[in-house]
Amino acid sequence: MSLTQTQEYYLQTMGVDVYRSKGRVIDDPVSTTEETDTTSVPESGAWRTLRDNVSACQQCELHQGRKQTVFGVGDHNADWLIIGEAPGAEEDRQGEPFVGRAGKLLNSMLLACGLQREQVFIANILKCRPPNNRDPKLEEVAACSSYLREQIDLIQPKIILAVGRIAAQNLLQTDTPIGKMRGQQYQYADTEIPVVVTYHPAYLLRSPREKRKAWQDLQLAMRVYQETK
Ligand code: URA
Repeated sequence: MSLTQTQEYYLQTMGVDVYRSKGRVIDDPVSTTEETDTTSVPESGAWRTLRDNVSACQQCELHQGRKQTVFGVGDHNADWLIIGEAPGAEEDRQGEPFVGRAGKLLNSMLLACGLQREQVFIANILKCRPPNNRDPKLEEVAACSSYLREQIDLIQPKIILAVGRIAAQNLLQTDTPIGKMRGQQYQYADTEIPVVVTYHPAYLLRSPREKRKAWQDLQLAMRVYQETK
């Protein structure tokens, strides 16, 4: 697969070494990349209702400790839907998924695929922060699952990228370890939407040597996306 200068730059940002000819310097391509138009478009009724329902949700105990719900962010007509686990402390404060250190790495992973954050939709299995970053409980996932399902039905993405074990196992209803799930294409329940699994950026920050595998996963996702387009 040949890479653009922007992709090479962001692979370097991810910490994945890319071969290139001697002496070639990769400038920061951000300054030369055209900005995506982020002018906000008025939300349709279905999105508004869903957002309001999520904001008011008290279906599990997590509502007691949240500063706010974290609905999800991005293009409502995105081809790519990125699904993580649950908001952390920073996401709970800002009301947006993946805004902490892991979020910055996720942005680099997306840019390595040629995608600006604004071009995709980013959501989580849970809309509220579990205390002390503990794993979501089964009843919390069950209480929240219809919101994510509605988001998927509204967006109708061409591909879902599940980042991390919790997202992958819950989306695909399996307890297979994530290391064994990688490298294959799945389908999201009762749809033809392909799902590709990769490591969670927070895990990659702790285990940078796994970034190469994450890049393989992203390459698979790009191939799958090209085939389904
Ligand atoms: N980790 C996640 O899985 N989701 C977030 O929104 C932030 C960190």
